[in-house]
Amino acid sequence: MAKPAAPLTAGLCSADRTAEDIATVRSLLECQADAPSADEVRASMEAVIHYASQHVPLWRNGCTFQFDREVIRARFEETISDPDLAVRDVVSHFTTEPSRYLRGVYQVFRSGGRFGDLAYFLYDRSAWQQFCADFLRHLRQCGISPDAAIAFVGTSDKRHTLARVAKMLPEGQGTTLGLQDGSLELVEGLNLAKPDVLCGFASVVEWLAKEQLTGRLSINPRGVFTNTDKATKRTRRLVQEAWGRSLYELVTSTEGGVLAFECASGKMHLNTRSACIESRPDSTRLLTNLVNRAQPIIRYAFPITMTLEGSSCSCGSGFPVVQIHGGRTRAMLQIRTDNGVGWLHPIVLRSALDGLFGVDACAFEATKDGALMLTVEGHAAPDDVNVAVRDGLQRAKLYGAHVKLTCRKV
Ligand SMILES: [Zn+2]
Repeated sequence: MAKPAAPLTAGLCSADRTAEDIATVRSLLECQADAPSADEVRASMEAVIHYASQHVPLWRNGCTFQFDREVIRARFEETISDPDLAVRDVVSHFTTEPSRYLRGVYQVFRSGGRFGDLAYFLYDRSAWQQFCADFLRHLRQCGISPDAAIAFVGTSDKRHTLARVAKMLPEGQGTTLGLQDGSLELVEGLNLAKPDVLCGFASVVEWLAKEQLTGRLSINPRGVFTNTDKATKRTRRLVQEAWGRSLYELVTSTEGGVLAFECASGKMHLNTRSACIESRPDSTRLLTNLVNRAQPIIRYAFPITMTLEGSSCSCGSGFPVVQIHGGRTRAMLQIRTDNGVGWLHPIVLRSALDGLFGVDACAFEATKDGALMLTVEGHAAPDDVNVAVRDGLQRAKLYGAHVKLTCRKV
């Protein structure tokens, strides 16, 4: 069995350690060009299980039930390795200063998963650095220099992953352009930035491709990458029409980091540097994050349908070829405003609500007549939710949007 890593200890300062992070990410990128061997993956798996059995209450006491998102939501403090960290510290940090390390050690994330049930996740520095190195390796495997100027599109909110990845790059390399300040600002920002690489939500990239085809957007990226939501055939066709480029998809999850990536030959490869996926007889997939010790994700029930192909790929990558079926799709919502209609991405609402305490889940859709139907669960006061949503819509220049808000106490 591999030697367990030393216990994590929280530092006393939360100083910005960006320069050190950038150097470490680059070092990982250079020394992890190829896939780990099966023995290395097995050893990583044993190491994280051994670590958890020593340092994490849930695993020290023997987890006898299915480990999933609901367990993390209900028993967060039992799922982390730092006994001095309370869930209220994590919530407070995420709400007030999410882009900094909590106690100098942890990155805090909140994810809505597939069904909008919000859960907190904790990464240690190594896990976060590995996430960013995995992303840059994907670029390089698709023929893009890891030094290329990258525009991250979709969200500029520091609580979300994209903006934080940009911070792990050297000064000036990464630009984040969100929809929180309005869709027109996103287009104008890209026209000014003229990025080498476009990377972001598939739903936003698809919308930007349409903007390029109408002439409002005028950029010429050498690489187009999507993540977070599923790129559909329509997304791929529009990207090809708009920029004459193939689109490469990155499959990520807050739980497992970079799970899989699409190569230049159009195949999907499992990222065995960071993730192991096992199948149970009932066809449930179990995810293990091979890197994160702050909150070990071990044999976690994960809503992904993946088939191991077992064949090699013409791209030469040693990472296993897999097929991934399904996946979450999202779309920009067209809603009615004072100016007629406006485009709203769900991330604008997520950003507005992430700044509030007491929101446990949220779901939204646009009706046929352009009204926004929003359902929020949690103990947040309905008036506060209403103000936050109105502020978010105003900031996005969606004036006079018709909102039907339902708040449910849970
Ligand atoms: Zn390949």
